[in-house]
Amino acid sequence: MDADIVCVGFGPATAGFLTTLAKQLVNADGTPAIESAVIPGMPPQVLCYERADDIGFGVSGVVTKARALRASFPEIKTAGIPMAAPVGEEKVLYLLDPHGASRRSAVLRCADAVIRATKFMLPFEYHALNLPWTPAFLHKQDGMILSMGQFMQWVGAQVQSTGTVQIWPGTPVSQAIVEENKVVGVRLLDQGVDKKGNPANGFTPGLDIHAALTVVGDGPVGPIGRQLDEAFGLPDGHHTRDWAVGMKFVVDLPEDTPLKAGAVLHTFGYPEPEIFGFLYAHPDRVASLGIFVPSWFDSPARTAYRYLQHWMLHPYLWRYLKGGKLRSWGAKTLGESGRRGEPHLTGAGYARIGEGSGTTNVLTGSGVDEAWATGAQLAEAVVELLRVKKPFSKQNLDETYVKRRRASWVEDEGRVAEKSRDGFQKGVATGMIGMALAGLTSGKLSLGSAPVQPWKRVPTVEDYFAGKISRAEIAKLRDECKTKNISLHGALMDKAGWPTIPFDGQLLVSHQDALLMGGKVQAPHGYADHVIFLHPELCEKCGARICIEACSGQAITPGDSGVPAFDREKCVHCGACLWNCSQANPENPERMNMAFRAGTGGLHSAEN
Ligand SMILES: Cc1cc2nc3c(=O)[nH]c(=O)nc-3n(C[C@H](O)[C@H](O)[C@H](O)COP(=O)(O)OP(=O)(O)OC[C@H]3O[C@@H](n4cnc5c(N)ncnc54)[C@H](O)[C@@H]3O)c2cc1C
Ligand code: SF4
Ligand code: SF4
Repeated sequence: MDADIVCVGFGPATAGFLTTLAKQLVNADGTPAIESAVIPGMPPQVLCYERADDIGFGVSGVVTKARALRASFPEIKTAGIPMAAPVGEEKVLYLLDPHGASRRSAVLRCADAVIRATKFMLPFEYHALNLPWTPAFLHKQDGMILSMGQFMQWVGAQVQSTGTVQIWPGTPVSQAIVEENKVVGVRLLDQGVDKKGNPANGFTPGLDIHAALTVVGDGPVGPIGRQLDEAFGLPDGHHTRDWAVGMKFVVDLPEDTPLKAGAVLHTFGYPEPEIFGFLYAHPDRVASLGIFVPSWFDSPARTAYRYLQHWMLHPYLWRYLKGGKLRSWGAKTLGESGRRGEPHLTGAGYARIGEGSGTTNVLTGSGVDEAWATGAQLAEAVVELLRVKKPFSKQNLDETYVKRRRASWVEDEGRVAEKSRDGFQKGVATGMIGMALAGLTSGKLSLGSAPVQPWKRVPTVEDYFAGKISRAEIAKLRDECKTKNISLHGALMDKAGWPTIPFDGQLLVSHQDALLMGGKVQAPHGYADHVIFLHPELCEKCGARICIEACSGQAITPGDSGVPAFDREKCVHCGACLWNCSQANPENPERMNMAFRAGTGGLHSAEN
């Protein structure tokens, strides 16, 4: 099939692209403002393929300054978008550990002791210090709180109502079609195959869509972006070594909640010092809340789900959440390399936008506005080229799209943020000082050392828990968990002193219940497994098996063959297994022993 432009993924980046493009393809009287090359006399044929089963099944925070969103929708009002609220009171909180179970450095333990000793002079309550001063770069004044799902559904409706672009959810792109170093379109996923991708009942090979321009906006763990990275490499000195998994709940707050719509809480310090948390209050007593577990938290048992429950139970947060009810749940990876993870933005026949193109600002924790802005910049460039009938060559895309991007605030602020997280390579205290330094000096000063590949950092379970749990005890727990075919982290955390989670069936629910009640996770039949253990022999002798512990959906289990087992019906497509692996890929040490390919299914909630 032929189109003029084909897009991969419908996240904020592609939404920014299509919103800007769609307005300029037809005249007010409905006649084409620009003519299609594939259907003469018609406006350009623009197709967008989205992997998830519906528009808005993505996951994000979201608090945003919304500068790029306002540029696209000058009349935008939060009242017109479900779950949106203007940003109100903002707080940054340092959470102390009420249980003594977290792993704190000597520096942090000293700081905690000083805070507790002087708490009567400080804004301290419920084991939390409310930072008296928040640096300007962290503020989101005049911004908006959104639900990613609701916002994307709202944008999808706006874009499709123009009648000039088509969005196809439930349609993963399996690969870019590359001919002689030129991207000439995309291939959709085969249907009617077995788990290994072999033709089975009802086999339908994935359709090829040929287009003059392929817009790649498939996010931080998108398979098409990674295919292009493999094919064309990254610019010198660039890498994608820093990651985090963000896991969230959307909850109904108790009826007497004192939290007002627009409230923004950011936390650090607990459940582990490396884990950041957020709570954003929507209208009508609903809140989005969650944590980020980063790749530089060197634990082989870094489970986002269990840690999220401990975070919610922190006394400062639990006083707001007690009596609340789970509405929705989800998880997704964030690319935390920012500007330093920027790939080649263009090539013959393709352009990259959004988080997969290195837009996320790792200093301010902002990604939606940046992704949207680069999509809008590409659309302006595309219209400029289409109007003068210039081809989508690398040179033309560089002179239009990349030039706009380099001259924009996305580039300026991305540069400031570029090294701001490097301090975390040496520990949390250094990391926080490094962020403050970079933020306060506009990126001129930073602290820390260059990031290393995540697999280099993951110790074995025995080494990580040395001094807390003996090797013999770990061996026993491992055997017990293997017999039950479950992950090990729950048993390890219990043993290391973490309190039991008091499940209440409402807000504190089992991981499986969060999948079913919150995520409504499903996977259609007839598709291949999209999570692949590349070198099974490496898995067989792996001492960390972090892929099992970190899996957001309990979709990876110990299995009975020495190699973990994958169940695609539980997978939420968070992409955490792509980087949560303790072994290097022998063919490419920048990658790990895990492949995360295009796949169907996942979350069926549009509130996250
Ligand atoms: C828990 C969490 C909290 C966050 N909080 C905030 C916040 O408060 N403020 C903020 O500004 N940012 C936040 N972010 C970051 C922000 O969500 C991202 O930076 C932003 O969504 C990036 O947009 P994108 O369009 O580039 O990519 P994505 O949002 O990742 O969208 C990519 C799309 O491509 C689709 N896709 C992937 N592969 C394929 C394929 N093969 N075929 C077809 N489609 C495909 C995906 O399903 C997805 O819909 C948060 C992120 C997370 C995970
Ligand atoms: S995928 Fe990676 S972490 Fe998981 S068992 Fe294999 S080598 Fe170990
Ligand atoms: S298997 Fe699925 S749910 Fe588990 S970490 Fe990988 S992408 Fe996430």
